[in-house]
Amino acid sequence: MKRDNILILGSGVSALGAAKLAKKLNYNVRVSSKYEIGEFEKTTFSDLGIEFEEFRHSKSNISWANFIIKSPGIRSDIPFLKQATKEGVLVLSEIEFAYRNTNAKIIAITGTNGKTTTSTLLWYILRNAGLNVGLAGNIGYSFSESIIQDSYDYYVLELSSFQLEDIYDFKPHISVILNIEHDHLDRYNKRFADYISAKMKITMNQNEDDSCIYFLEDKHITKHLNKIKAIKYPFRYNKKNDLNLGAWVTNNKIFIKTIKNNFTMTIHNLALQGTHNIYNSMAASIAASAIGIKDEIIKKSLHDFRGIEHRLEFVGKVAGVNFINDSKATNCNSVYYALETVSSPVIWICGGVDKGNDYSILKHLVETKVKAIIILGKKVDKINSSFKKYVDTIYEVNSMEKAVNTAFSISDADDTVLLSPACSSFDLFKNYEARGRAFKNSVLSI
Ligand code: ADP
Repeated sequence: MKRDNILILGSGVSALGAAKLAKKLNYNVRVSSKYEIGEFEKTTFSDLGIEFEEFRHSKSNISWANFIIKSPGIRSDIPFLKQATKEGVLVLSEIEFAYRNTNAKIIAITGTNGKTTTSTLLWYILRNAGLNVGLAGNIGYSFSESIIQDSYDYYVLELSSFQLEDIYDFKPHISVILNIEHDHLDRYNKRFADYISAKMKITMNQNEDDSCIYFLEDKHITKHLNKIKAIKYPFRYNKKNDLNLGAWVTNNKIFIKTIKNNFTMTIHNLALQGTHNIYNSMAASIAASAIGIKDEIIKKSLHDFRGIEHRLEFVGKVAGVNFINDSKATNCNSVYYALETVSSPVIWICGGVDKGNDYSILKHLVETKVKAIIILGKKVDKINSSFKKYVDTIYEVNSMEKAVNTAFSISDADDTVLLSPACSSFDLFKNYEARGRAFKNSVLSI
């Protein structure tokens, strides 16, 4: 029997997962990467009998392929993909490919900020409720790899806009859109509208039996709701009790209303603190409740959940000074919530690779809460000029050790040293995890 030929573009986590799944399904598989392929990946491909090429995308693969699976890191407008599309070769995202090969119920979570927190929190609630549930997507394990190894009934999927770009049939039973802020505009040729459209694709195949949970205070989301057929569950931080379904906060109490259940819980019982985490907790609670999970389990899980590394992670106290690692905050919106959450005077460590930040949204918080700024990175001018009117003490440093030592040397007891960079890490670190670990190690060596 002739099987289709699948060409996989890329050689990272998603490509590896897609290649393994395609091989398992008996397709003829080739991998093509513009960059060097790691030793581990090469061995895996060789062991599976998968042909691969590195440093190029050979044009001859276009006529060979029946369809192409694109890793999320690759732009759709590269000449190779334009040519493939012109020649009628279907290009799928790795998420779409995996989706076509599983019967599990999907809860898909997207947004500019809060995806990992909300996905992990929801997965934790569903697991505590005894469901056979996996966690995959943009969170370390590709969806494809996960469906080869496990036979879960439910999946919580964390999805970036890149992963949603090339979907066709993908239809989550529940979709969650946490927020849409300016980010990744480098990828979308500075067109915010394209970034919004990619995110909103999460709802495009949903019907009346599905649910869509979204942040009602975000006009970028609410402007695009008219086409959604799924049951709508808005959430917001607002005293008014005028929602038929969804979640809101009144007098420090969260109210959750779904077609399955109604309940309340006090925000003081949430393990994750800060306004942004109230939003994340509301979104996860609506999703769990819409699936039919009992409120006692939801409440207990929200109370017991332990935070996630590099997200407002409390590192420790040295001579009365608090150190917080928020290395995952790679845009201004997440820094906004980090600064809002901290109540003591802040020494703010920021900087790295700016993805097109507009720092003006931080001005008020910086003026009122930040006593000193330490800019860590190769390019420091933009941050310096944005804040020098508001903060007298600004240092520029080129290593994490210097950043932490400088911060400590100017701190007083009860201050908070907050690493919340607003930028990605690639000028000095491999990734945000390496940056967060460098921060924690430097704090330990004070
Ligand atoms: P993502 O996976 O979308 O990058 P994370 O859950 O890893 O999001 O959180 C990254 C950072 O974003 C956190 O450190 C926090 O500062 C901020 N954040 C988390 N949730 C929200 C939210 N709902 N709205 C705005 N910022 C948030």
